[in-house]
Amino acid sequence: MATHLPRKKNLSDTQAAARHGRDQEMKDDNVLLSMRNLHTQFFSREGILRAVDGVSFDIKRGEILGVAGESGCGKSVMAQSILRIVPTHGRIVDGEILLQHDDEIVDLAQLDWRGDKIREIRGATVSMVFQEPMTSFSMAYTIGNQIIEVIRLHQKVDETEARARAIDILRRVGMPQPEQNVDAYPFALSGGMRQRAMIAMALSCHPLLLIADEPTTAVDVTIQAQILELMKDLQQEMNMAMIVITHDMAVISELCDRVMIMYLGKDVENAPAGELFRNPKHPYTKGLLNSVPQLGGGKSQEIVAITGTVPSPYDRPTGCSFHPRCPDFMPGVCDLSEPPQITVGPNHSVRCHLYV
Ligand code: SF4
Repeated sequence: MATHLPRKKNLSDTQAAARHGRDQEMKDDNVLLSMRNLHTQFFSREGILRAVDGVSFDIKRGEILGVAGESGCGKSVMAQSILRIVPTHGRIVDGEILLQHDDEIVDLAQLDWRGDKIREIRGATVSMVFQEPMTSFSMAYTIGNQIIEVIRLHQKVDETEARARAIDILRRVGMPQPEQNVDAYPFALSGGMRQRAMIAMALSCHPLLLIADEPTTAVDVTIQAQILELMKDLQQEMNMAMIVITHDMAVISELCDRVMIMYLGKDVENAPAGELFRNPKHPYTKGLLNSVPQLGGGKSQEIVAITGTVPSPYDRPTGCSFHPRCPDFMPGVCDLSEPPQITVGPNHSVRCHLYV
């Protein structure tokens, strides 16, 4: 199976010099991860699915980036690309994912997805919390066994020390009776406790970047608030960067410093969180914000759903892929050419012909 093999990339002298300059800029600006023009595609009988279609962003140490958009917009595949866990038939075909790791800059997009380097990075420097804890835990082992295994994989400690660290991290994520529950099997825990155990496993090696993919979707509303609070506390305590993937704009406003809105694989708007909520530019972002009730908006506030549905990714509209649903559609412009990325303010960019 060749689908996961890395692309070979031979940089010309000019490209190598540009890359060296960018590496230095990343270090100077404290950027932990820089994704540049990433394209991840799936290949099947139906055709080529452009799941991630030219996404770029930077995330600094200690920063929280929210990634929002409807189901199927490429948020999860973008995150899987970082950890090189894109499902079978998927492949990164272009772009860079530069990570500061042990004082060097590593392009994750170029690594062998099964190689030692990415294994060293997964779980230790970059770690992930999934929507459904059952996908992270094996039912055949206790949560303690599984957390201890992750700790011993990345840190040179003996079994006793690793168990002590597992209990400590379970306590820190608010697991009741961590000394007993460390020996519990995942199926014996409630949904909220499993979610805490998964966060504990993800944090057990103090990652520099935690990716949380819909971290609260599988738990009820009360537990949701507790988990979000917990993640924010731990993020501040560990000065960890976080990418929070969600379709819930309330989660974004609760947690994030910056927001990237995705639509059909593209990063259509990227801005500081306060700016995006105050001054959204892209018609899709406005639609997302108008489709959820605003806190303090009163009973009379108008909630307007975005019309239509997300088109099939195998049959993308021409030009701007949002044009069949856009209230500001300009015939002869929006359906003919893809809008470029336009800077509309400090750290605020948008892909829309309205701002060209
Ligand atoms: Fe709407 Fe045109 Fe902007 Fe696309 S480019 S979001 S269709 S106004």
